[in-house]
Amino acid sequence: MELLKNRILEEASVLSKDVLKLDAIINHQVDPALTMEMGQQFASRFADERITKVITVESSGIPAAFSTAYILGVPLIFARRKKTLIADPDVYSERVPSFTKGIVTDIMVAKQFLSADDRVLFIDDIIANGDAARGLVKIIERSGAHLVGLGVVVEKSFQSGGKQLREQGIRVESLVRIASLNNGTIQFE
Ligand code: 5GP
Repeated sequence: MELLKNRILEEASVLSKDVLKLDAIINHQVDPALTMEMGQQFASRFADERITKVITVESSGIPAAFSTAYILGVPLIFARRKKTLIADPDVYSERVPSFTKGIVTDIMVAKQFLSADDRVLFIDDIIANGDAARGLVKIIERSGAHLVGLGVVVEKSFQSGGKQLREQGIRVESLVRIASLNNGTIQFE
């Protein structure tokens, strides 16, 4: 997605060789027109999949997931993050480490919102090592729903998350792929 590449070049900053600050367009401020375009891209890539629900993890995944769900005309579920989770028979939960915060959180989805009849599209903001995505994939699998694929706004392809999920047989579609952040420079694939 050329428009997104240009916005990243203009508004993102390289914090280290591993981390890109995307607060201006994804993680703190959101551009609605750009975000609707992201949704359009995901919706057209997965147009033939008879999707019944879009799912993401709060909070930064929500805008792109919302725009995708809006265009597909289906509900959006966002997995919620909890610091501690008392065992609850009505929710699916998974423990995931956070790449940027260095903490572990539990993500949870109420069982009532996912069923074996669902064909689910998972949308996420950024994929690094894939821990957050793997957690939500496990929840989707446990619910019996069919995961049609994962749409990622920014894939850092020098980290292993996207590759590992593809090796697991999951269709991963990224709007931009970043090959390197070395020397403070953003290198797209
Ligand atoms: P993962 O679980 O794939 O290692 O990390 C995924 C999550 O960590 C993303 O949803 C995102 O919130 C955060 N994250 C990972 N790498 C970056 C990065 O380079 N920049 C920003 N802003 N967030 C990141």
